[in-house]
Amino acid sequence: MNVVFEALKRYYGYSSFREGQYEIITNILRGRDSFGVLPTGGGKSICYQIPAVIFKGMTIVISPLIALMKDQVDNLDYNGIPAQYINSSQSLEEIDNIILKCKSGEVKLLYIAPERLENEFFKKQLRRLNISQIAIDEAHCVSLWGHDFRKSYREIAPFINSLSNRPVITAFTATATEVVREDIIKLLELRNPYKYFGSFDRDNLIISVHIEEDKLEFVKDIIRENEGNAGIIYCATRKEVDGLYYYLKDLGYDVGKYHGGLKDNEKVYYQEEFLKENINVMIATNAFGMGIDKPNVRYILHFTIPKNIESYYQEIGRAGRDGEISKCYLLFNRSDIRTLEYLIYTTASLNRKEVEISKLQRMIDLCESKECYRAFVLNYFGEQNARDYCNSCSNCLSNEELRDYTIEAQKILSCVYRSREKYGISVLVDVLRGMSGPKIASDGLNKLTTYGIMKDYSSKFIRDLIKTLLDLGYVDLKEGTYSMLKLNDKSYKVLKSGLKVICKLTDDLEVKILNKDLFDSLRLWRKDRAMKEGIKPYIIFSDSTLIEITNKHPKNKEELLSIRGIGEKKFEKYGEELLNLMKI
Ligand code: ADP
Ligand code: MG
Ligand code: ZN
Repeated sequence: MNVVFEALKRYYGYSSFREGQYEIITNILRGRDSFGVLPTGGGKSICYQIPAVIFKGMTIVISPLIALMKDQVDNLDYNGIPAQYINSSQSLEEIDNIILKCKSGEVKLLYIAPERLENEFFKKQLRRLNISQIAIDEAHCVSLWGHDFRKSYREIAPFINSLSNRPVITAFTATATEVVREDIIKLLELRNPYKYFGSFDRDNLIISVHIEEDKLEFVKDIIRENEGNAGIIYCATRKEVDGLYYYLKDLGYDVGKYHGGLKDNEKVYYQEEFLKENINVMIATNAFGMGIDKPNVRYILHFTIPKNIESYYQEIGRAGRDGEISKCYLLFNRSDIRTLEYLIYTTASLNRKEVEISKLQRMIDLCESKECYRAFVLNYFGEQNARDYCNSCSNCLSNEELRDYTIEAQKILSCVYRSREKYGISVLVDVLRGMSGPKIASDGLNKLTTYGIMKDYSSKFIRDLIKTLLDLGYVDLKEGTYSMLKLNDKSYKVLKSGLKVICKLTDDLEVKILNKDLFDSLRLWRKDRAMKEGIKPYIIFSDSTLIEITNKHPKNKEELLSIRGIGEKKFEKYGEELLNLMKI
């Protein structure tokens, strides 16, 4: 099997790539500078980590957030990939030790903060290492036009130029704006880079807008509905955070809070409690979230609407990094507009006021729109192919209209036909969207005429349509399998003799957990383990992995290894224990 897929399986326990990952990785491995723009949670880390494992020399990763370095390195370590980080929190001796390890080839990835590149002595030490790749994470920090410019990012290009052998340079960001993207390529001096600009659509985020609700009642309902799940409640001001915090705390809810007015130690305390899953609900201003890679935030609730669509999308982007369904509730009350206008008038500089007010107006337009919210947001970011119907926002879902899905159904059914009824829903979805995966490569599915013919649709949409076709009998499940499709008479009529598919899509809005007790005990086990090992629970396993374990109930090594997120190292570490837990 291809070394790239092998690494994905062995270290991460995944068997298919997300959008763009494979293309980016293969270009990097060919030695071409690469620039990947993928949304938050899109899986950018794997894009430079897999080449790092495969390259002979080591990879230097430049990453702006010290808080995240330890997590990233823990994550790699738990996946069996030797990694280290160097930042200002360490002593000179520790740093020397790490450099020694790097020299002896024991380290595959070294994470550093960009400020390190201002130190001549340190740069001299780096130049002596055998560097195959320099990966720049959060690359928008190099640009003045972005929101978090970091001066020391400007040191990167001169440093690269000072190396006697130029390694492959890779850069990653989730930035949507054109100017910043161009700046990145120019300022990092990428050479004829391979560019991958992914879609900004996050189809696992279910967007809903709630107008003029009784906010406090609404919040309590949502917290209760999401018991045991992590969520962030965003407020407009510190005062609002404090108010809601004490209100909920008094009622006995276990909540944390975060805003710029807290003391540093308080901030650290609440953040850690949230990340360690001791507190599930965080009430915060937009100051909270930067530098949080927690993959299993299951919901975001905007108690007050954000100032603009950029902030809104960034904030809801913190939910569902693991790809599981996550809810984004936006509360909209016309009386909040005044508060926000006031905030803008008191904080924005004179020449920004007008711009900020018009951005706020677009945010209000979004709330009042009768059309697909997702399409609205994607259009706002200038995404061309945004479809006008997503089936996973509250406007689409409350739309009772029947729609004509004949063409989409024909595409799906003909894909089932072309692939000879041999595949399950996941593979079909990947083929229709033109994705790469080991099965797709080894079975030549990328040569089918139906490969990539639904590129513009999200995987959730295709999945929902397949389920609808199954429900309505336009296609059958092969007997004895749980997701393999088989054509029937009605399918052929759709394909050949003009039978129309007019319906409303079924929607799949809940994470399917077959045995809640087992899931809860796995979650407890994870938290317990994490505490003992001094790491964050999600470093051990993601929610997706726990859900799949719950639903598939693996009974032996092979079955465990087939679960997404269990690579070889994690199996060695936890396999036995998990199998025992399954017996209960
Ligand atoms: P980004 O940096 O783009 O915001 P990350 O690299 O932190 O995203 O990845 C987000 C989450 O997605 C992580 O939990 C990661 O393990 C998971 N992930 C990445 N690639 C895949 C994949 N191919 N299959 C399943 N999960 C993946
Ligand atoms: Mg990242
Ligand atoms: Zn929609």
